[in-house]
Amino acid sequence: MTTDTVSAPETHAFEADVSKLLHMMVHSVYSDKDVFLRELISNAADACEKLRYEAISNPALFGDDPQPRITLVLDKEAGTIVVEDNGIGMSAADMGETLGTIARSGTKAFMDRLTADKNGEGQQLIGQFGVGFYSAFMVAGNVDVVSRRAGTDEAARWSSDGLGTYTIAPVDTAEAPARGTRVTLHLLDDAKTYAERYTVERIVQAQSGHVPVPIFIKELGS
Ligand code: ADP
Ligand code: MG
Repeated sequence: MTTDTVSAPETHAFEADVSKLLHMMVHSVYSDKDVFLRELISNAADACEKLRYEAISNPALFGDDPQPRITLVLDKEAGTIVVEDNGIGMSAADMGETLGTIARSGTKAFMDRLTADKNGEGQQLIGQFGVGFYSAFMVAGNVDVVSRRAGTDEAARWSSDGLGTYTIAPVDTAEAPARGTRVTLHLLDDAKTYAERYTVERIVQAQSGHVPVPIFIKELGS
């Protein structure tokens, strides 16, 4: 890594609504934590679709890797699951705009319902709305997102423990996917099963069968 091009991480506070949402995720007793994987796979597939669309007018974005792909990397020893795609990717600015705000309409609708929720039905609402990226914090104590936007030479890392702040820092492209996004979940002690193949295969089959991008599962450290 070259130190002159890579500066120190910048710390940012989550939007108030995101903090509220995260607090709920972290303290979730929601039994069906499995939905986090559906959400991350759906984001990965969306990113591949966005690349396909942008490449209609700019085929160079495909480089020498035109086939969309989602890879799940499981490491039981490290207690991690990685969801990686070779889709459109995110710049550092993209990360600041999307992974710290409630830009997403579905999440906003969820928050509105939650605010109106007087009967403690919030837990059921998680499953109903699908709360997107932040659901990662139901199973992970730390989440790292390393991404490189298609057609650029810059990569960045977003990192958070879901407790109020996140950091964004540039990283060397050697640490990032050649194109697209790598989301690493450092699993909580009671969620280590998500680093195991049989659990992950079951969830993918049950929840992500319709995803139009091939999904590969790799195991490390076993
Ligand atoms: P939604 O998918 O409904 O927009 P999410 O909370 O799941 O909401 O994701 C928020 C945003 O973060 C996405 O809209 C997208 O801009 C960005 N994002 C998340 N994951 C990825 C990814 N793998 N590749 C590119 N962008 C992503
Ligand atoms: Mg999503």
